[in-house]
Amino acid sequence: MLPSNRWYLDVVRDAELADYGPVRGTMVIRPYGYAIWEGIQSYLDSRFKELGVQNAYFPQLIPLSFLQKEADHVEGFAPELALVTKGGGKDLEEPLVVRPTSETMVNHMLAQWIQSYRDLPMLLNQWANVHRWELRTRPFIRTLEFLWQEGHTAHATAEEAKAMAQQMVEVYADFAINCAAMPVIPGRKSRIESFAGANVTLTIEAMMGDRRALQAGTSHDLGDNFARAFGTQFLDESGELVHPQQTSWGASTRLIGGIIMTHGDDMGLRLPPRLAPIQVVIVPILKKNTDTEAVLAAADALAEAAKAAGLRAKVDAGTEKTPGFKFSYWEMKGVPVRIEVGPRDVAQGTCVAARRDRPGKEGKQFGIPLEPAGFVASMRQLLDDVHDGLLAEATAFRDANIVDVESYDNLKAAIEAGKWARGRWAGSDEDEKRIKEETTATLRCIPFDQPGGSGPCFLTGADAAEVAIFAKAY
Ligand code: AMP
Repeated sequence: MLPSNRWYLDVVRDAELADYGPVRGTMVIRPYGYAIWEGIQSYLDSRFKELGVQNAYFPQLIPLSFLQKEADHVEGFAPELALVTKGGGKDLEEPLVVRPTSETMVNHMLAQWIQSYRDLPMLLNQWANVHRWELRTRPFIRTLEFLWQEGHTAHATAEEAKAMAQQMVEVYADFAINCAAMPVIPGRKSRIESFAGANVTLTIEAMMGDRRALQAGTSHDLGDNFARAFGTQFLDESGELVHPQQTSWGASTRLIGGIIMTHGDDMGLRLPPRLAPIQVVIVPILKKNTDTEAVLAAADALAEAAKAAGLRAKVDAGTEKTPGFKFSYWEMKGVPVRIEVGPRDVAQGTCVAARRDRPGKEGKQFGIPLEPAGFVASMRQLLDDVHDGLLAEATAFRDANIVDVESYDNLKAAIEAGKWARGRWAGSDEDEKRIKEETTATLRCIPFDQPGGSGPCFLTGADAAEVAIFAKAY
């Protein structure tokens, strides 16, 4: 069964990830959801720093005139802007935009900070909230206010900027696959789908459990568009005054929505182990007339051993709820591994593990040692196995739902069946808009991974060197 809209909203609520804010389209991220975001931050932040990117912070209020300096940028963002027109009880001389993205604010500062080629490259990132007045909203996936990181870099040459934009989309793809177990297709956006103000937008596209596409992160080659608009210039090595070439790249709390919809199943959330706030939950099985103290002590010792080894573990020792109730609760919360330990296990020096990615008996492993080193080694292996299991399942699902098309009729049939369509593409902007109007599918990306050669475009019949992917998207 494919997960429905109702299923998604139930999971967000029941797993205590987020709640609705009082203003339409806003959300409150609850501790369990925020802990997933902290995991995402921690992975990405260390990757950025390895590449020499430094964190900074820019103001949230941006003079409206800044956005108006870059024509495409303001045109693209105008419908989504939130404006502040009053402050301290008085009308403001100039409306202020509540940051929807910071290219303009960053360039205002770079124009002052960059004078010489020696100042380049400048590699900045900020972790911040942004506002976009979206009409259709959905918790995590598309909200009026969301949390993200936005990278902004300036380079001496166009080649360097291009390479940076490419490198960052690869960082996102690596995160998605190796941390979130989310198989993504990296590629290039069409002109129509590109960021307002970018020359080229690169993206990672993920298939959700209902087979809709999700743009899970984007990296833009901005050329010198913003530098020209803001007069950002530097003296190059030959003493000539030129504009730097820039990139920007962002990924947001939407990733959490992507994780929910990539991995979730009938029982609720399934969290990828490297991001799960609780990786191992230990449920002591307490039976009357047995040595419950010994069982509780064993459970605590396992949690201590796991924590000492850097794993995130928790004991659910309460006596009010039955073990069965606890099992379903932690399954719904998506905890990757559950440990059951009862009196007989303690006597044998072992416990039982259950993998969240495999249902029932299939996911059980017996004879896991209670001895700390052995237990930790088993947990590490199991968590890696769950990661691999989730990734393999999602990859197989995605690949089974991409159809290669050779005609517009093929595409329509694929889209109607809820699948993704991949075909040779040499259409115009108008052709692309027509497909969107007639099928509601959009061009998700022109994947980096191409079959090579050339052949007729599925729509126009013109010679096409590349394939593109079309799908209905969030
Ligand atoms: P952009 O600056 O438009 O390229 O956005 C960067 C990334 O932020 C996108 O690739 C999305 O994954 C994410 N994003 C864009 N709009 C929203 C939104 N309204 N809510 C949550 N995430 C968003």
